[in-house]
Amino acid sequence: MRIILRGTSGVGKGTQAKKMSKKFDIPHISTGDILRSESKAGTGLGKKAREFMESGKLVPDHLIIEMMQDRLTGKHAGKGFLLDGFPRTVRQAEMFEGMLESSGLDIDRVINIIVDNDVIIKRLTDRRVCQECGHISKIDGPGEDRKKSCPKCGGQLYRRPDDDIGVIKKRLEVYKEQTRPLVDYYKKKGLLFDVDGEGSEEAVMERIISVL
Ligand code: AMP
Repeated sequence: MRIILRGTSGVGKGTQAKKMSKKFDIPHISTGDILRSESKAGTGLGKKAREFMESGKLVPDHLIIEMMQDRLTGKHAGKGFLLDGFPRTVRQAEMFEGMLESSGLDIDRVINIIVDNDVIIKRLTDRRVCQECGHISKIDGPGEDRKKSCPKCGGQLYRRPDDDIGVIKKRLEVYKEQTRPLVDYYKKKGLLFDVDGEGSEEAVMERIISVL
């Protein structure tokens, strides 16, 4: 199964992708996670990507395509995958299609998760990530950071630099301008399925499964 999960940051793509990856036993590939780990490790790519990420802009297409080439072709693509955060632009989608075609493969479904912008802003400003295990949790309001630790491992929580309110607004704007055309691109190909992303994680998961 080869699936693309779409939607702005904060629609719950990562959470749903992790669940689906377990359920269907296919790898979850998140370009945001790969870029964050490259940036943490201080690699050449990580250094180049960092300033774009911290200001809420997209990392240039050529860097992303190079980064994904190895991960999405050959034996990796054969088993299937769940893509989270890629492709983000029509150019990435076209290059990706070419990569798959050369391996005789295609995409099964593009799941477009939709959530209201006000809900997204609240979710992202309250989102915290565990420094130790990467688990995502949420705080219940201002000042809660000091009291809370990771519910899974007790590790320290941090707020992603791009979950700052100014950067969130920029990311939503970038999504509308640059990544929205992708929705039309996949709609024309008959691959796009809209799913309401509000409500419990389980409810959203059921809606996704119903369109697979
Ligand atoms: P995410 O974790 O998907 O919200 O991604 C975090 C940031 O990483 C984005 O705001 C972009 O700066 C960068 N990024 C992730 N995936 C891509 C992509 N496919 N193309 C360009 N930039 C990306």
